[in-house]
Amino acid sequence: MRLDGKVALISGGAGGGAAGMGATDARLFAREGARVVIGDILEDEGHRVEAEINETGGECLFIRLDVTEEEDWRNAVETAVSRFGKLDILVNNAGFQVRAPLEEITVEQWDRVHDVNIKGTFLGTRTVIPEMRRAGGGSIVNISSNAGNVGIAGASSPYVASKGGIRAFSRYTAVEYGREGIRINCVIPGFIQKGQSLSDPALKEFLKRYKHSEGSVRGTPLGRTGTGDEVAAAVLFLASDEASYITGAELVVDGGFAAQ
Ligand code: NAD
Repeated sequence: MRLDGKVALISGGAGGGAAGMGATDARLFAREGARVVIGDILEDEGHRVEAEINETGGECLFIRLDVTEEEDWRNAVETAVSRFGKLDILVNNAGFQVRAPLEEITVEQWDRVHDVNIKGTFLGTRTVIPEMRRAGGGSIVNISSNAGNVGIAGASSPYVASKGGIRAFSRYTAVEYGREGIRINCVIPGFIQKGQSLSDPALKEFLKRYKHSEGSVRGTPLGRTGTGDEVAAAVLFLASDEASYITGAELVVDGGFAAQ
């Protein structure tokens, strides 16, 4: 198994978003032998993912974690270490999006998006580093977005700024902590949904709800949206020792969208 003996903490692991990637990462990590702690503000959903993983032969613990709160991070890391003895992997997956034109974005909305996406990634990274140092190294995978990579209609200004910031933060911290054996990489998902084709009711409903153009699906070279499993495979690779000489890198999982 690819994560045998590893302990991983995944933020936003309750899977309450558009694609449920945090929960999908947790399921895959557990199947690959990791003991997994998932943190989220959605307690019922988090406990459901925890129970599902534990009932299917994995080892998982849910903890309430608001990534914008330093104290919550301390508690999550302390709990992971006291329960499982160490911490090898962090996935900064929790994300927040506000969809509105720039002139309608309030300062409060701008701040909230940055608090969750950027400050959350900063606090998570800062809190796990001492434990990774103690363990002799570690792997951090930050989840950015194609919205922070290329201009995509239908994203929003605070979201793209925060996701672009995560890419720069990942590269910088990779350089800062490389000598300590702590690898920091970034996954850049494209359009990831629970439905893959335009005839899928789940995808139709999403596009309608957010007034999102069908063009982003039609304009993807692979002709469809991606799945949480397809992103989780990239997260798993970077988290695992298979990526032992990879740090400061970006893995784009977008069906070819940004290659155009
Ligand atoms: P997801 O199902 O992983 O949901 C994100 C989770 O973050 C939710 O469970 C939510 O409750 C949690 N969260 C929000 N605010 C939080 C906070 N303050 N503290 C802790 N948890 C919090 O959602 P997803 O759509 O799979 O997205 C996962 C990540 O991938 C996000 O960072 C998102 O921005 C990014 N992303 C998504 C897409 C996409 O098309 N779905 C594309 C590119 C990037």
